[in-house]
Amino acid sequence: MNPHNFSIEFFPPKTPEGAEKLRVTRAKLAELQPTYFSVTFGAGGSTQQGTLDTVLEIRREGHDAAPHLSCVGGSRDSIRAVLEQYQSHGIKRLVALRGDLPSGYGASGEFRYANELVEFIRAETGDWFRIEVAAYPEVHPQARSPQDDLQNFVRKMQAGADAAITQYFYNADAYFQFVDAARRAGVTAPIVAGVMPITNSSQIMRFSEMCGAEIPRWVRLKLLSFGDDSASIKAFGLDVVSAMCERLLAGGAPGLHFYSLNQAAATSEIWRRLVR
Ligand code: FAD
Repeated sequence: MNPHNFSIEFFPPKTPEGAEKLRVTRAKLAELQPTYFSVTFGAGGSTQQGTLDTVLEIRREGHDAAPHLSCVGGSRDSIRAVLEQYQSHGIKRLVALRGDLPSGYGASGEFRYANELVEFIRAETGDWFRIEVAAYPEVHPQARSPQDDLQNFVRKMQAGADAAITQYFYNADAYFQFVDAARRAGVTAPIVAGVMPITNSSQIMRFSEMCGAEIPRWVRLKLLSFGDDSASIKAFGLDVVSAMCERLLAGGAPGLHFYSLNQAAATSEIWRRLVR
């Protein structure tokens, strides 16, 4: 099995030690031959240089890499400057997002929603970039309703996105239902499933609380029952997430995007189980 779109996400390391660790992680994950790696972009431009440096390093190693670009807190001039910088380096892929500003950050800049960013990128750079945007099978936490969120997603695709990557989830039905609804609303572009391996109980519960991903009750209770037994948590996490990925691909998902958190082991093992 070889899904046509298999990508792996990193965040830009903050220290030289983090950068060295990421090089080791990347070397292991490169063996899986992903379609591309992507690198997140801190809202408000906080990681702008780190994102670019990481993307350029990945490309020097011979792999395709897509920087993320989040617009909240940015101005037209600042986003234009980032786009020009990406173009000058020959970068052809982008993941375009609104981003979330930390509370108390102040004014939110000249872009309110990601559809405005996608429109701006197309107006400024035409078809230069392949643009991926975010999708939320379990509904974005700030959405007024699932219907409203879907309409906003459709608007973002119509603004010129080429494909979407979902927020992670642990309920494959939410993904299939969302894709069906998007197809009925006229979206024909690929909607790649975002996958978050489970390696640490408290971390996954904290992240999921923030981003609105639901951890099924039975998964949560099992994770809690393992306490500090990290080996059992990891083994159970691999079983749950690999089984879900198998179901997603068998059900027609056009690819998988792994939120690696700059770690190689879980993503590699899930991938190996899928291609076995
Ligand atoms: P939008 O598509 O703008 O949606 C945000 C909310 O506004 C939704 O509730 C939507 O329903 C509503 N909405 C959208 N358009 C309109 C409109 N025109 N009118 C009224 N309401 C509207 N964050 C980062 O800071 N950096 C990253 O690198 C990053 N990478 C990510 C990668 C992926 C694959 C995903 C899934 C998320 C990522 N995020 C990242 C998190 C993302 O920025 C947050 O989830 C953010 O809250 C929403 O971003 P968005 O692009 O989906 O926003």
